[in-house]
Amino acid sequence: MRILLVEDETHTAEFVARGLREVGHRVDVAGSGRDGLFLATTETFDLLILDRMLPVVDGLTILRTLRASQIHTPALVLSALAEVDQRVEGLKAGADDYLVKPFALVELLARVEALLRRPASSSTGTEGTLLRVADLELDRLERTVRRGGERIELKPREFQLLEYLLRHAGQVVTRTMLLEAVWDYHFDPRTNVIDVHVSNLRAKIDRGNTMPLIHTVRGVGYRLGPADG
Ligand code: CA
Repeated sequence: MRILLVEDETHTAEFVARGLREVGHRVDVAGSGRDGLFLATTETFDLLILDRMLPVVDGLTILRTLRASQIHTPALVLSALAEVDQRVEGLKAGADDYLVKPFALVELLARVEALLRRPASSSTGTEGTLLRVADLELDRLERTVRRGGERIELKPREFQLLEYLLRHAGQVVTRTMLLEAVWDYHFDPRTNVIDVHVSNLRAKIDRGNTMPLIHTVRGVGYRLGPADG
């Protein structure tokens, strides 16, 4: 999985990044909140690990900014602040988990695995569980999809694919992005596995509907949204 670590303390950053890499994750490290926010908004990650106390742009500001932009990548916040109020503040800002410094690497790794195993980032509140574009609705907790109120049965991979497209609604999503997010990045990007799944998904979501939502962007990938443009 691809993880973004935002941590200004070099020693901690190296220690955590090494631990994550040893168990097979790909880790990008940002040493400042500004760099972290830039990476988190311009690239795709499976998990964010954010130090809370960062100069200029702190960890919670990064989180609030991301959540306000509908980026729901699961996030683990690291902090030396252990008070209940501060943990709650972290969770309210959109963190999925909170780990108090100093921590044991094994605990961090266990929490990372738990977050990555979750079917979707469970932002608190019902709003975070629903992804909606036009009359298409995906409930990440119930694992259900409806279009115009009618239930649509999707296979697990189709569900993941649709969830990813919905999270990036209106944006062009490349095949490489889909391969990394929904499949494993070991696949040859020339494979047609994506086109086959998108075609199946489109048949279930768009067939017979006057307003198709899944659009092909020739030579690049796909875009989910109400109309071309
Ligand atoms: Ca710090």
